[in-house]
Amino acid sequence: MIMSKSRDGLEKIIVAKPRGFCAGVERAVRTVDLLIEKYGPPLYVRHHIVHNDHVVKRFEKRGVIFVEDLNLVPDGARVVFSAHGSPPSLYELARKRHLQVIDATCPLVTKVHSEAKRFAADGYFIFYVGHKNHPETIGVLEEVVPTQVVLLETIADVWKIQPLQQEKLVVLNQTTLSVDDTKEIIEVLKDRFPNLIMPTGRDICYATQNRQDAVKALAKVVDLVLVVGSPTSSNSNRLKEVAEKQGVKAYLVNNKREIDTTWLKGVRVVGVTSGASVPDELVTALVESFTRVGVEVEELKLVDESRIHFMLPKEL
Ligand code: SF4
Repeated sequence: MIMSKSRDGLEKIIVAKPRGFCAGVERAVRTVDLLIEKYGPPLYVRHHIVHNDHVVKRFEKRGVIFVEDLNLVPDGARVVFSAHGSPPSLYELARKRHLQVIDATCPLVTKVHSEAKRFAADGYFIFYVGHKNHPETIGVLEEVVPTQVVLLETIADVWKIQPLQQEKLVVLNQTTLSVDDTKEIIEVLKDRFPNLIMPTGRDICYATQNRQDAVKALAKVVDLVLVVGSPTSSNSNRLKEVAEKQGVKAYLVNNKREIDTTWLKGVRVVGVTSGASVPDELVTALVESFTRVGVEVEELKLVDESRIHFMLPKEL
């Protein structure tokens, strides 16, 4: 990507804060980091530790082997479970295979698993709002017998469902959804089922909420938004959608090399943010490619997350 300020008319970029790594991703990445440092390669990780290509490739170079199928891990080997959470059947399979599991599931995802188990045990029917093929959804749904839970992806799904009971209804959701879309789905759900309860208001995590709030504020003052993140990252995709819903063009890019300069034609101010699984060095490199050609940089800071950290898995 070669940019020139004069040709593009670009004057300023505004970088959102908070952006990038959340406490759950920081914990998961640090876990793999420390294990590879301590025991050396190979280290098995079930599923990409976080949904970011750069992070995954960097670990692969250090001897980390990412697998989807746990049967590919040798008997008795050490294996890390990814930040997105895993279904109970995988813990069971790991136990049978005598694997040493180090669980890097984000504590906020674990909380939803616990809620699902607790409500199911109390006889509740669970409406789970999430994306069908996301590992977090797959993991939580497996905690409950299929007759006691239904997955809702859209408002249309809410109109179709016929739960077997009208009492003891609860809604849970994936942590990385769009705050606004989820609110709309839950509103319709509440209209249809007035007895519905919401244990914690909602389960969208602080990092998803803060990054979406920040991109909304950003979209008000820029002509275009660049979201750094991988296409597999749920929260990065949501950031792009949130910006677009504010009426601003937005693009998801893995890194600075993916910026198409034609996007910048007629653009005066560009907003930049990144998904919760994105290392800040990618944002820094992107920002530097602008500053090198004389573009001014500003930060738009909404919330301070610097004091939020999660404890590492007990094995560390
Ligand atoms: S986005 Fe939220 S739920 Fe996901 S790892 Fe980060 S803090 Fe945890």
